[in-house]
Amino acid sequence: MYQLPSFKEIMNQHYNKLDWKNIVRTAISSHWTIKLKADCEEKSTLKLLSKRNLNIGQTHNVWDTISSSVKDVRKAATKVRMLTGTYMLQTLKVKFNQAEIDPTCSICKLEAEDLQHLLTSCPAYRHIRKSHFQQIKEYIVSKIGNSVWTINFNSKMAITELLIDCQSFVERNILPNDKMILRTIEMK
Ligand SMILES: [Zn+2]
Repeated sequence: MYQLPSFKEIMNQHYNKLDWKNIVRTAISSHWTIKLKADCEEKSTLKLLSKRNLNIGQTHNVWDTISSSVKDVRKAATKVRMLTGTYMLQTLKVKFNQAEIDPTCSICKLEAEDLQHLLTSCPAYRHIRKSHFQQIKEYIVSKIGNSVWTINFNSKMAITELLIDCQSFVERNILPNDKMILRTIEMK
């Protein structure tokens, strides 16, 4: 499974402990990284997760931007649920339940509650969105310019993708491949 050397090769090579540990670690990481990326392509719940830095042994942008405080860890856990499609929205409950469940947002009752509704449309969160989103937008505009922003972030879907995993826009050459910028957006 891990394409490691055969027993005979191991006996002949006389690997030292450190080299052998590295060979095993690299083999395991690369095997599971390939499997993880392949799974991401197949699973609709993972479509908002950027595949760019998705490597075994490497933490996601979300975990890289928080402190170890309980408050931050809780926030990150919520964000990760959104990233991995396990955040309990009405539309997700409908998918997993046989019983009749109404996909409508139980707070505003205006439309189906999916991530896009929660993050970009639900009027119940308008005040929170207003204060935070403006900051994110201003920061990104300062890095990519107003026209690039207007062309690429003109739909609720694009904004949802940005809020969930901004790294996706590096793959499309819209945001710069700069760790500090991506972390700042994630933090905001
Ligand atoms: Zn709502």
